[in-house]
Amino acid sequence: MSLKGYKEIPDAGLILNAPTSIQNKTGSWRSMKPIFHEENCINCLFCWWYCPDSAIIIEDGKMKGINYDYCKGCGICVHECPGKKGNKALELVPEKE
Ligand code: SF4
Ligand code: SF4
Repeated sequence: MSLKGYKEIPDAGLILNAPTSIQNKTGSWRSMKPIFHEENCINCLFCWWYCPDSAIIIEDGKMKGINYDYCKGCGICVHECPGKKGNKALELVPEKE
């Protein structure tokens, strides 16, 4: 494969073939995963606001689950979830469970 010089490549910073992020299922990197306990959810949507991978599924303004194709298991949603009366609606467990 021959590499192009800097005068031959397109302007830097341009994404020429969007949406590549949808094709890249980053959930395969995960070693931990969040589990949703709906009975403790107050639908505050903090998890949706904080998830860096847009992996929280919302339907009709309510939290409905996690898109494991893209969730990387960072645990931010679990950390931010207030839950109901101190009982979190999200729990981080090892991927194999
Ligand atoms: S673990 Fe991280 S990537 Fe997965 S849903 Fe929670 S915040 Fe998003
Ligand atoms: S942060 Fe917790 S309580 Fe709030 S919507 Fe998400 S799962 Fe439900």
